[in-house]
Amino acid sequence: MRHYPLFADLRDRPVLLAGAGKVAERKAESLLSAGARVRVVAETLNPQFQQWVTEGKIVWLGGLFEEAMLDEVYFVIAATDNGMFNRRVFEVAERRAKLCNTVDTADLCSFIVPAVVDRGSLKIAISSAGTAPVLARKWRQIIETLIPLHTGTMARIAGKWREKVKQTIHHVERRRYFWEKLFDSRFSIFAAQNNIEAAERELITQLNRETPFGGEVVLVGAGPGDPGLLTIHALQAIQAADTVFYDALVSDEILAMVRKDAVKISVGKRAGAHHVQQEETNRLLVEHAQKGERVVRLKGGDPFVFGRGGEEVQTLHQAGIAYRIVPGITAALGATAYAGIPLTHRDCAQSALFVTGHSKHEGSQPDWQTLALSRQTLVIYMGTLKAAEIAGKLMAYGRQPSTPVAVISNGTLPNQTVRTGRLKDLGLLAAEAERPALMVIGEVVALRDEMKWFGEFVECYEEAA
Ligand code: SAH
Repeated sequence: MRHYPLFADLRDRPVLLAGAGKVAERKAESLLSAGARVRVVAETLNPQFQQWVTEGKIVWLGGLFEEAMLDEVYFVIAATDNGMFNRRVFEVAERRAKLCNTVDTADLCSFIVPAVVDRGSLKIAISSAGTAPVLARKWRQIIETLIPLHTGTMARIAGKWREKVKQTIHHVERRRYFWEKLFDSRFSIFAAQNNIEAAERELITQLNRETPFGGEVVLVGAGPGDPGLLTIHALQAIQAADTVFYDALVSDEILAMVRKDAVKISVGKRAGAHHVQQEETNRLLVEHAQKGERVVRLKGGDPFVFGRGGEEVQTLHQAGIAYRIVPGITAALGATAYAGIPLTHRDCAQSALFVTGHSKHEGSQPDWQTLALSRQTLVIYMGTLKAAEIAGKLMAYGRQPSTPVAVISNGTLPNQTVRTGRLKDLGLLAAEAERPALMVIGEVVALRDEMKWFGEFVECYEEAA
């Protein structure tokens, strides 16, 4: 991390501003609103600065910059239109170990000033580390629209009651839970109406209520990998969790979105690799929820599609633990969409079947007759190891060897690859594919030629003409 983010309390602290033109004026405005004591070094003052000086809001040190001016200030902002002058200010500041920001000159900055979304005591600062200020501003606009104006009011009331709440609820986790519940309750509506009295009454009521504090487990589908495919419920759940149990299929990008101080525990499994047994996972979920934690069980794709979500919910139900289920985009939907393969199409596929290539009971045979029917799309999860065998069976039961197939690896992720070919070559395609990989069999795969839009197209096994 190159820039360490911080919010500085500048009340009554002197800072030095070099320059007194239009740009410096903007800087002075925000410094003054933060309560800083602004000292200006500049040969001439624009009318606004003249007024500030007359009103005693700013101290003017004249036009000659001297090292000693840095002695008592906390930092300096160089905002003149003279590049040489700005550089000198920066160099002196460096020598004297004072932070310096030079307007619009990234290499003359030891700190940068972020774009800010301001909701009173709630402030969100956004920075592109000086690389693309316009991008930072764009995001500020987006975030502006997301955060209701009354958030600042809620923060102000919370600030006032913080100590009292601390004295009443000693347990840290319970306290966090109290605040989260409060912010989601009528309290927020009263704050939006600026009815502070009613908001505070609501806070007191909730504070005095003796609600038994129980944990819960949220089974969350994380989707196939691209974090943009998380649902809003999923995002909220992983950002509120105390403990997150995740599998190997959950992408790093998604794990990075989990609340920073949540405990993250891998119960990952991939065919063949060492993993925590399912029974052990079930036991851990119950144990942590019983301690009063908000537990998230984060699973790749959808929890109820080949994800053993059902088994986990049965365990929670038997143990009397409260649970919720947040569905996710399953690989068959996500990976095919990103590969440009529609699952159904009126011209060639009236249905799609999701099948596992890996079953718990070795003896139970799939219904090959049905699977081999034409005019349907087969999507096979966990099947790459048995690809040749599966292709052989399907052909034996009548599916054409020339049926188009695709093997999609790392679907929806930046390193997604798609291998396409014919059913008779499926074994070969799958053997080369990186995992996780999904196999798609059916005429719809050929539509990819027109519809592909994402990631890399690796190889194509075509029949010799
Ligand atoms: N619950 C998950 C499936 C778990 S089974 C879901 O709904 O998607 C694991 C299998 O899912 C893998 O063997 C692979 O076949 C498939 N899979 C999951 N994520 C994938 C991805 N990003 N790309 C390709 N296949 C994926």
